[in-house]
Amino acid sequence: MKLPPRKILLNPGPATTSDTVKLSQIVSDICPREVEFELLMNSIRINLLDLVNASSEIYSSVLFSGSGTLVMDSLISSLVPENKKILLLNNGAYTQRAVDICSYYGISYIDLKMPYNEPINLDLFQKTLNDDPDISVVYTTHHETGSGLLNPINEISKITFFKSVIFIVDTISSFAMIPLDLSENKIDFIMSSSQKGISAMAGMAFVIGKTELIEKSSAHIKKSYYSNLYRQYSHFLNFNQMHFTPPVQTLYSVKQALFEIKNEGLVNKFKRHNDSFNLLEQRLVKLGFKFYIERKYNAGLLLSILYPQDENWTFESIHDYCYAHGFTIYPGKINENTFRLSVFGDIKHNDIDNFMNCFESGLDSIGVQIPIIY
Ligand SMILES: *Cc1c(COP(=O)(O)O)cnc(C)c1O
Repeated sequence: MKLPPRKILLNPGPATTSDTVKLSQIVSDICPREVEFELLMNSIRINLLDLVNASSEIYSSVLFSGSGTLVMDSLISSLVPENKKILLLNNGAYTQRAVDICSYYGISYIDLKMPYNEPINLDLFQKTLNDDPDISVVYTTHHETGSGLLNPINEISKITFFKSVIFIVDTISSFAMIPLDLSENKIDFIMSSSQKGISAMAGMAFVIGKTELIEKSSAHIKKSYYSNLYRQYSHFLNFNQMHFTPPVQTLYSVKQALFEIKNEGLVNKFKRHNDSFNLLEQRLVKLGFKFYIERKYNAGLLLSILYPQDENWTFESIHDYCYAHGFTIYPGKINENTFRLSVFGDIKHNDIDNFMNCFESGLDSIGVQIPIIY
């Protein structure tokens, strides 16, 4: 079988996959209720715990069929008891999505809005938490994929630890990229999906959370039929299976991607992403581009880049040029005058070099002035 041409995705997920991950999906048809498939899911669940050093005595991993938003939906709809509130530390587009989920489910929430270009203000957080005894869940996003911002989740967890609150972190765009050790901090729930840091195919999302808290949540009023956390957890507990049809071939790609991550090593993998990021940033700075987030606040995985004030610049024309040459770039999320480039997935130094050569020829061909005018 001939492999399709390699394309480079610089959008923040689905990420560029290796050929071996693509090919791992070609398997004999299998009914996912067979023991063979249960064993596959079991090994994925164990490997996910290992990636964040989460002890299986304390944490469980629960797999779902869906994209990342499905597990945000699951945690938010399952973990906030009636008559209690969730506090959302909101400094970006993805925590804003969590706010929307709360409003859809009619969950009481405090939307603690902060500037989108700075990490969470810990004093403001602590004061808000101290002032309201009804807060039982605290929620934030580790790496804000809308901007590239990194939030101080360890510091936040130290504050939540002294209160009887559950701390949920959206680690969808940092899991298996930024090393995280759950034995060393006090985070109760994290989540991610197959197509970001793991760099497999889209279709599987998962939660890693404290088993005791998942079991406690069985007493809450159920708000979702498909995404209720306890329901899915208990199905794994009793039957080693997802409640409903899993994304069969995606799970084979996840198994292969996890194997490749183990071989590379998480520390090396993060170094590779950072190396790509640094090269991307250097070459853009050289052209005169400016960024939405200051370097000291950036997680080192994604750049939100300000549009040049050049009459020949349009995002669409540079996008189309790059796309025709095998590189996908992505619009902004903060406002309409930014675009985004990320280094998730199976991308190396050389890919960024090739991309930047293409991007520079693209700017030249549409007549954008260098250095960039602001
Ligand atoms: C990608 C992402 C999500 C989920 O988005 P989907 O469109 O459902 O894949 C949630 N949070 C963060 C931080 C993300 O990067």
